[in-house]
This record gives sequence, structure tokens and C-alpha cells, in this order.
Amino acid sequence: MAKSYDVVIIGAGPAGMTAALYASRANLSVALLDRGIYGGQMNNTAEIENYPGFKSIMGPDLAQDMYDGAINFGAEYLYGSVESIKDLGDHKLIKTDDDEFEAKAVVIATGSEYKKLGIAGEKEYGGRGVSYCAVCDGAFFKGKEVVVVGGGDSAVEEASYLASIVDKVTVIHRRDQLRAQKVLQDRAFANDKINFIWNSNVTEVLGDEKKVTGVKVLNNKTNETSELSTSGVFIYVGLLPMTESFRNLGICDDEGWIITDDKMATSVPGIYAVGDVRKKDLRQITTAVGEGGIAGQQVFNYVESHKPSEAKANK
Ligand code: FAD
Ligand code: NAP
Repeated sequence: MAKSYDVVIIGAGPAGMTAALYASRANLSVALLDRGIYGGQMNNTAEIENYPGFKSIMGPDLAQDMYDGAINFGAEYLYGSVESIKDLGDHKLIKTDDDEFEAKAVVIATGSEYKKLGIAGEKEYGGRGVSYCAVCDGAFFKGKEVVVVGGGDSAVEEASYLASIVDKVTVIHRRDQLRAQKVLQDRAFANDKINFIWNSNVTEVLGDEKKVTGVKVLNNKTNETSELSTSGVFIYVGLLPMTESFRNLGICDDEGWIITDDKMATSVPGIYAVGDVRKKDLRQITTAVGEGGIAGQQVFNYVESHKPSEAKANK
């Protein structure tokens, strides 16, 4: 028989952990499911400098603190890779790879994953020089030269992080202007270990069959192609929503981001969405936790207002 909770929260990143804190502190029974270690993208971030209350904190440390807070009021943290949610009106059925849960309400907090470039050599040299996580893999390139692809916050911030480990970082961006926040840009421009190749696309990852040896670069203004020697290629070209399992609910836009109102409610009563998985402009830890708090409270209101009338009268 499926285990039953007031609320099942899917994803234990900052958004899901905050929803768990608020819902369990409001005395709801809460299952917090994740298919990996709690913390979400914070585990891939070295230093966080824009989370209020801390001048700077390491991502995994903030993840641990948030987790301790989330389970402090009784939320159960459980392993589970969620494959589907069935809306049965007053309750929802959540299926993982090897279990089933029933809940009055669900909070989807599954975040996003890194977009791939889809170029030759990218897949082949994954884990052998191609990486999507500087914090995880940067140390393998100590004393070497690496390339970073992209011009957003992730690319520019991680380029600065890599520059503290490797000899040289070359950021290759498809335009002549970065998308990243100015403070991150200024820091990267001031770092003499970081240089930029503008108006250029990486079209192929080159290797010797064992590991990455370089990249092929196309200047999209002049159409000139060149090759650049490198040991590592760190790819930060954006994010894709982790919503394949929920598309059938009709709550996503064409790209797969979940649409909610300002109470984090989706168009299906009792199903909420928070954090990076939502359609929105600013994907940050602060926005994720803010939305988690709102959903935690809204779930409480929802569960209270859907109690059978007898149970309400006996209260
Ligand atoms: P996530 O953190 O992505 O967590 C989602 C969780 O859901 C994951 O644990 C995942 O395993 C789980 N999950 C996914 N699908 C399923 C499923 N089907 N079943 C079960 N579990 C599932 N923001 C800042 O504010 N400051 C920074 O300095 C900063 N640096 C960053 C650096 C990098 C390299 C990146 C990529 C992002 C950075 N961000 C930063 C953004 C920030 O990390 C995200 O906005 C934030 O983590 C989003 O939180 P979330 O809880 O919505 O999702
Ligand atoms: P992003 O903001 O979507 O930026 C993606 C970058 O990759 C853009 O510069 C884009 O170029 C480029 N790009 C996209 N597709 C490409 C392709 N096919 N080939 C080459 N380049 C391509 O993604 P992100 O940097 O990963 O950031 C994701 C979210 O996390 C953002 O909301 C960000 O603010 C947040 N974040 C915050 C921090 C922080 O606060 N410190 C750190 C990291 C991430 P164009 O510019 O030309 O579109």
C-alpha cells in the first residue's frame, strides 16, 4: 500500500527544503523526495556570495544547514526518483522508480539540468575532459589550461573559480557581450588568468580517444575556423527544466517550465511548483527559498480547507 502524507515535496534543493521546513513546522506530515543528495545545484557551487546573512558560504555547507532546518520539524527525507504524479482529485499518487506515495498536496521542486551543446566529441569525452561542474572536476585540471563555453552567470562565475586552480581559462562566447551580472563580469575581466574569445562557437571537442586535447572554434562574424589546445571544456550554456515526468498534467509551457500563480499554485488544485523549475526570470537561491516558503504555507491552507467537514468540526 502506498505510504500516505499530507504533502509530498519532489526535489530537495533550496526550494524543496524550504517548502519542507514551512509545511512540517505547520504540523503537516511531509515526505521530501530526491533522487540524489539533498542540496540540488548548491552542491555544484563553490562560493555563494549573494545569500543574505552570509558574506560568503560554500554551497555544500549551505545545503547541509538548509537540510538540518528542513528535517528539524519532522519532514522525512526519502530517496526516490519520481516518474509520475496522478491527480485523483482530493489526493495525488506519486510513483517513484520503486515506490508509491499518496498525498493530499504535492510540491514540485525538481529544478533544472545543464543544457548540452550537442556537438561532436561532447558526449564522447564526457568525464574525460568535458565537464558541466567546475566544483566537481576543476581540481583535475590543476596547472593546465581549460576552456569555458557560455556567457551567463554560470560560465563567468565558474571561470573565476577555475582560474584559482588552473593556469589559464579561455571563455568562448557566441556574442561580444556577456549576459552575466556585472559584478561577475568585472571580477573576470580583472583576472589576468582569464581571457575571452568573442563572437565564436565551439563546434567540436577534439581528443586523442583517451582525453580532450582541444576544441574547434568558429568565428560567427568572419566564418573563420580555428583550433585551440585545451585539457578541459567546461560547458555552461543554460538550463533545461526537469519536468519530463509532469508534462501530462498540462502545467508546463512549450519549453517545459511550470507555470504557477503568485501563490505557487499550478492549474491543478493541490499541485504547487517552486524554484528553478518555474517559468520566471530570476533563478537564484534567494528566489527558490522565497517560493518554497510561500508554497509551504499555501499547502497548509490547502490541506486545512480540504479536510472532511467532520474532522474540521471535531477540532
Ligand atoms: P535545484 O537546486 O536544481 O534542486 C532540484 C532537486 O530536485 C535536485 O536535488 C534534484 O536531484 C531533484 N530532482 C530533480 N528531478 C527529480 C525527480 N524526478 N525525482 C526526485 N528528485 C528530483 N544561485 C545563487 O543565488 N547564488 C549563486 O552563487 C549561484 N551559483 C550557481 C552556480 C552554478 C554553477 C549554477 C548551475 C547555479 C547557481 N545558482 C546560484 C543558481 C541556484 O543554484 C539555483 O537557482 C537553485 O539551486 C535552484 O533551487 P531549486 O531547489 O529550485 O532546484
Ligand atoms: P543562462 O543565463 O541561460 O546563460 C546561458 C549562456 O550560454 C548565455 O550567455 C548564452 O548566450 C549561452 N548559450 C546558450 N546556448 C548556447 C549555445 N547553443 N552555444 C553557445 N552558447 C550558448 O544560463 P546560466 O548562466 O547557467 O544561468 C542559469 C540561471 O542560474 C540564471 O538564472 C542565473 O542567474 C543563475 N545563476 C546565478 C548565479 C549567481 O547568482 N551567482 C550563478 C550561476 C547561475 P547568449 O548570452 O547569447 O544568450
